This record gives sequence, C-alpha cells and structure tokens, in this order.
Amino acid sequence: MEVKEILKKHGFTFKKQLGQNFLTEGSLLRAIVKDAGVTEDDVVVEIGTGAGTLTQAIAEKAKQVYTFDVDTALAPILNETLSGRDNITLNFLDVLKCSDEKLKDIIGNTPFKVVANIPYYVTTPLIMRFLESTLDVRSLTVMVQKEVADRLVAEPDTENYGAITLAIEMRGVAKVTRPVSRMLFHPAPKVDSAVVHIAIDDDRFEIEDRDFLRKLIRAGFQMRRKTLVNNIGATLGITKERAKEVLVSLGYSESIRGEALSIEDYIKIAKALKE
Ligand code: SAM
Repeated sequence: MEVKEILKKHGFTFKKQLGQNFLTEGSLLRAIVKDAGVTEDDVVVEIGTGAGTLTQAIAEKAKQVYTFDVDTALAPILNETLSGRDNITLNFLDVLKCSDEKLKDIIGNTPFKVVANIPYYVTTPLIMRFLESTLDVRSLTVMVQKEVADRLVAEPDTENYGAITLAIEMRGVAKVTRPVSRMLFHPAPKVDSAVVHIAIDDDRFEIEDRDFLRKLIRAGFQMRRKTLVNNIGATLGITKERAKEVLVSLGYSESIRGEALSIEDYIKIAKALKE
C-alpha cells in the first residue's frame, strides 16, 4: 500500500507546527541517501522519521538506522511502513533535548552519520547540537530551507556569511547537494528546500582552544557592522588596545570587520589573542 494511503487509512492529521511535510518519491529518497554517502558499514542516526519513507531508503543501504521522532501518533503508521526490516530502531525522543550520554546509551559508542529532514526552525539548532557535541559524528546530511542552505555554504564578505557558516567550517566542509522543490513534499510547504551535506574532518585545521575560537567567531558577528576590535572589546573581556595590537601584528587592518574574515583568519587571530 502507498504511504499516502496508509496515512489516510489511519486518519493521520499532519501537524504543521512539527513541520510534517513528508517525502514520498522513491528517486528523491534514494538520491538523498546517496548524498549522505551511506554504505553498508554505516550506522545512521535519522532525525524526523515522519512516515518512515526516508528511513526505509536509508535502511536499504546502511548497517543500522536509529530513527527519532517526537510524534507518537506516527506509531501505527510506522508499524506498517517499517515492518519487515531488522536494521531499524525507532525511538520517540527529542534528540535536541537529550544528552550525548543518553544518545550513546541508545546507539552505542560508535561513529555515525546523521540524516535529517526536520522542521525548518530546528535545522540550525540541530546542526549546532551535533557540531558542538562530544559524539563521533562523521557527517550531517540535512534538508533545509533554500535560503538557509545559502547561508551554510556562504563565502566571506557576503550577506549570507555568518557565525553558522564558520561553525561548520571549523569542523568540516559543507556542500549543497541538490535543490528540492516544495512540490515534492506531501503536503507541499510554502518554501523550497535544498539538501546540504557536511563532511566532518577534524584534521583539517589544528585548533588549540575550540571554545575560545567559537567565542571569537560569535564576537565577530555580534554587531555585524562594527569592527572586530569593537566587538572583541565589548564581549570577550579583552581590551580594544590588545585586540588592535594583535590584528595589526598579524597584518590585518585595525578596522576590519568579522564578516570579512575566513576560518583560517579566525584560527590565526584566536591563537595570537591567547598568547
Ligand atoms: N523524514 C520524513 C520524510 O522525509 O518524509 C519526515 C520529514 S517531516 C519534514 C519532519 C518530521 O520531524 C516530522 O515527522 C516531525 O514529527 C518530526 N519532528 C519535529 N520536531 C522534531 C524533533 N525535535 N526531533 C525529532 N523529530 C522531530
């Protein structure tokens, strides 16, 4: 039976506030799994099970899928759509609110890949939740609103460039793998989407103090139109004179703004400020 019919049979009411717009087209689901680089050796954590269509497509390629949703009303539907597969574990739990330890209790101490199609207002918190965690995440493949995708892969000195772009760059490389039309969701939302793949690579840069680097990046975008020196002075407990001295000694203008700097610049400045 088709997923749409199963949802109808159970009288399922889509909850807008939970972003319940489901994907049903087989070729798109398989393409997302390909974008995520899922192989038979992989453990995948899927966030936002929905009707289980993407879960099924992942399970066809992965060793094991741990899938999470918050809406228990989906249980009877998932009982049908996920039946007959022994490599899927379904959990009704909010991964955004649960600790790393709790997550490890469920999935074990194993490296894993994240695949998520969740409400748009939680995509950025979800990306940050994993980027800043102690978990062994190897990649994140996330469906996001098209405009958010532009921000995640933006270049310095552009309108879309921000602290989230740099938070990703600190840990890996982001790529927009495909645009997804709103018409491919059931029901169709009001905006178009895109799939973003973030490959984690912690060997990319040598970063001595990740917490301090995060704080410096946040300071850099605290007040976008202010200079980095002013933002550092206002938020980091470092005097403006000291910030100026460090920037100039590294060859930057003392009036440079945070939005003009690359991740390599931030790493260099953070290191010098700590010396
Ligand atoms: N993955 C499915 C698909 O592609 O068709 C469902 C996607 S639908 C856009 C988003 C799903 O995320 C909904 O089933 C919703 O109940 C679930 N959801 C909403 N907030 C969540 C959260 N904080 N944690 C996990 N799942 C959540």
